[in-house]
Amino acid sequence: MTITVVEKKTLANFINGQWVKSTTDKYEEVPNPATGEILAEVPISTQEDLDIAVAAAKKAFAKWKKVAVPQRSRILFKYQQLLIENWVELAKLITVENGKNYSEAYGEVQRGIECVEFAAGAPTLMMGTQLPDIATNIESGMYRYPLGVVGGITPFNFPMMVPCWMFPLAIASGNTFILKPSERTPLLANRLAELLQEAGLPEGVFNVVHGAHDIVNGILSHPDIPAVSFVGSQPVAEYVYKTGTANGKRVQALAGAKNHTIVMPDADLDLTVTNIINAAFGSAGERCMACAVVVAVGEVADELVERLVDESNKLTIGNGLEEGIFLGPVIRDSHKDKTLSYIESGVTEGAKLIRDGRKDKSTSEGGYFVGPTIFDEVTQEMKIWKEEIFAPVLSIVRVDTLDEAIEVANQSEFANGACLFTDSAKAIRQFREEIDAGMLGVNLGVPAPMAFFPFSGYKKSFYGDLHANGRDGIEFYTRKKMLTARH
Ligand code: NAD
Repeated sequence: MTITVVEKKTLANFINGQWVKSTTDKYEEVPNPATGEILAEVPISTQEDLDIAVAAAKKAFAKWKKVAVPQRSRILFKYQQLLIENWVELAKLITVENGKNYSEAYGEVQRGIECVEFAAGAPTLMMGTQLPDIATNIESGMYRYPLGVVGGITPFNFPMMVPCWMFPLAIASGNTFILKPSERTPLLANRLAELLQEAGLPEGVFNVVHGAHDIVNGILSHPDIPAVSFVGSQPVAEYVYKTGTANGKRVQALAGAKNHTIVMPDADLDLTVTNIINAAFGSAGERCMACAVVVAVGEVADELVERLVDESNKLTIGNGLEEGIFLGPVIRDSHKDKTLSYIESGVTEGAKLIRDGRKDKSTSEGGYFVGPTIFDEVTQEMKIWKEEIFAPVLSIVRVDTLDEAIEVANQSEFANGACLFTDSAKAIRQFREEIDAGMLGVNLGVPAPMAFFPFSGYKKSFYGDLHANGRDGIEFYTRKKMLTARH
């Protein structure tokens, strides 16, 4: 097995603190989705590459787990500083490889930094609990330890935030880490690795192995990887969870979504429309917390629909690096085609296409753009209601009561987020008690929890027990020993 350090034009893996050329002969081009310009080539790495990385991470674990917890935190504090210093560059990189606009990318970097800040509290997070007298002269205590080499598999839509849900907490608690970033947005992962190295992280603690299915399967079957964190689409999440757990691993797999936003007749419509536009069309609808369906209750529907269309007509479409652009491209040409076929199916199944994003022009040539698209009178038999489209396509369902609205939302197979716009405390309480989704928002559009709370979907939006981030995160990346002692 030879290890060659390469220049980073053709992307290299980051293994044991070095840039290592993959042993593969398969590479995929990484285009800028706003222009089609090729940014890099990403290696579709091999099992051999993964084995080298896992061996390095396993070796590093023996030392890293013994590094004093405050010392591990200090490296994360330094890392946080470096992320802040490089904030603008990181945000630009996200826009270039993902397509979301610069201010959304800037916000994503902030979300990543917050995860690092939370993880830097490792001394408190790692504490156990004791009871000095469980019986006469007998004490009992719980001690928390890392697991070993953890695998992280991430999606294209948040190239910074989602990896940051995983590796800062995993390494802060003493594990070592193999990141398999999305092959569609691989650039940022390498920059995160460079900055970790600059922060003083010892070699082998954090590794990046680029690639696709084979690396995922390699992680899921590797005997030296006891735990896997996954974020991505529903079918893959289900597969990762079933395969990983069948192989005896601890797995958390965060999956797809179809989030409903209920609008009551008493809602403040200025606030509601601004938030829905942002939640439905921001990041080109490529957010697991995007608003995919609006459920309009009673007489609010006509005015709400009219205002949503008016506001969508004002959205600027183009390269997210340009000043004033709101809506960037979707991630690939193939995803654009898939979105167009969903729009076609909405029309065929009888939904009312009241804003057709297929006709919109963008200011950028060569990219994969779809304009804001809105369907009214959508019903639950339609594919556009049932399936995650993950693009700037919004469905509107009309109902008469809050009870009916909650029923519609709860019939979705997914249960990531749900929102309610209202001024009524009674409606808010009913929504909180009865809605069957993990992350709820009231009078806001994207209720994504901060790093110190769990990212809490369920049903087909989550496979596993412990969610990402917050206390759940530290529980996921550690195991406990109980010591009972007689004195
Ligand atoms: P994806 O499932 O296509 O890819 C995710 C990862 O899995 C990538 O690293 C990819 O290489 C790998 N992968 C893809 N197909 C595979 C296969 N057949 N076998 C093994 N590995 C495979 O997801 P994506 O398109 O990159 O991301 C968008 C999806 O992620 C959306 O469904 C979105 O809702 C979801 N997502 C969910 C959350 C959440 O918190 N629930 C957060 C972000 C994104």
